[in-house]
Amino acid sequence: MGPHFHGLEMQHVQAKVIRFFTVSAGVLLLALATAMIIANWASAGLTQPHDQILLVPMQYLFWIASAAELVMSLICFFGDKIWLKQTFIFLLAANFWVYHLAYGNGLSGYLGSLADAFGVSPHTAELILEIAFLYLLIGSSCSWLLFPMKENQGYLKIACAHCGGHIVFYQREINQNIKCPHCAATIVLQVPTESLSVIPKATSASP
Ligand SMILES: [Zn+2]
Repeated sequence: MGPHFHGLEMQHVQAKVIRFFTVSAGVLLLALATAMIIANWASAGLTQPHDQILLVPMQYLFWIASAAELVMSLICFFGDKIWLKQTFIFLLAANFWVYHLAYGNGLSGYLGSLADAFGVSPHTAELILEIAFLYLLIGSSCSWLLFPMKENQGYLKIACAHCGGHIVFYQREINQNIKCPHCAATIVLQVPTESLSVIPKATSASP
């Protein structure tokens, strides 16, 4: 067992994963927005198929989608609430998938302007969108699941029985065997003694 069971190590790794995902999501959304804007410019003046669900020309849908993607990418880069970002990314991706699945026979017939603007086939354009929004859906779900461990859960602090070094871990890690990050001795994570606990204890005010 490596030191990754150590609470702070885990917290650090989780924070890194979430930060990586959020930045990559921001870049991806910016790219998607740009691609849709370019497709709209390139196909300006051409008659476009109307979408089957909102009954508007695909061009309108691309404007709406690119605006949403632009706003989301800005939130990814500059927002400060991690859970809010993951929720927004998830909702945007889920929205795409609900819309996509509602079509049944595929979106490729409606992606002509996007495909033409970048010289790919409509099926390739559809596949790229699917991969992008699948990544956003899975990434935001995972970040959401990782996040509560990162900031919302109580953590405990004990001193290593061998070297006295302090170890911080989550409550759910109680009874796990770990290697002490300080001296590498194998120790069991146990409920800490009162003096070292960082969880506030209920204390009685009256004598
Ligand atoms: Zn130790």
